[in-house]
Amino acid sequence: MNEEYQINHQEIIKNFTCIKEKISIAADKADRDPGTIKLIVVTKKFNEDMIRPILDLGHLDFGENRIQESINKWPRILADYQDISLHLIGPLQTNKTKECLSLFDTIHTLDRLKLASALDKEIIRNNIPKKIFMQINTGLEEQKSGILPIEIDRFLQDMETINSFNITGLMCIPPIDEEPSIHFSFLKKLSDKFNLKDLSMGMSNDFEKAILFGSTCIRIGTGIFGARS
Ligand SMILES: *Cc1c(COP(=O)(O)O)cnc(C)c1O
Repeated sequence: MNEEYQINHQEIIKNFTCIKEKISIAADKADRDPGTIKLIVVTKKFNEDMIRPILDLGHLDFGENRIQESINKWPRILADYQDISLHLIGPLQTNKTKECLSLFDTIHTLDRLKLASALDKEIIRNNIPKKIFMQINTGLEEQKSGILPIEIDRFLQDMETINSFNITGLMCIPPIDEEPSIHFSFLKKLSDKFNLKDLSMGMSNDFEKAILFGSTCIRIGTGIFGARS
């Protein structure tokens, strides 16, 4: 291992430790138990060597946004580390559900019934339970995936045809040019209204706010690994 990598590794561990401390402090401020907030280390575009220091600390939850990249990267890592839980945080094509479920335990981005049906078939076939979040397009952005807030009710009714899983939570990605707190508080309201308790919200730049508004799952990449190239 060359010197540059060693320096990188120290930096990564320092950043990770710092994020964990900030989670504790934010939880304290919100009068919440930090144990109820899951840190998902987002490893998209970072290679095995970058991820290894975090794995060696015993961290278990990692997020990726592309199936192909995950298939190229994770099977080798999973052979060396026990109990790792992978989270899909990017869009999922219906024809990739099988590959997706062979690798991921949690899907944060369910956004249409056709995908729910495809997941249902495959989960029934494998008989391995999965955790599924519904992605909500809180900013009503045209280019962004996610179910619109006014469509949630209908979508949950349609979900009654799905047998192998229940949606357990909501996920959002706030518009980049808006105050994220508005979207976090809105998602929290929706989670209370529909009794979907898990809340996947908060990234490197806004996770402390997300924790204040009740996030149970924060997704951090650049805050730990630095900028993606
Ligand atoms: C990349 C990504 C993250 C992590 O973002 P950072 O700013 O690197 O912390 C979180 N959530 C989703 C959906 C992402 O695609």
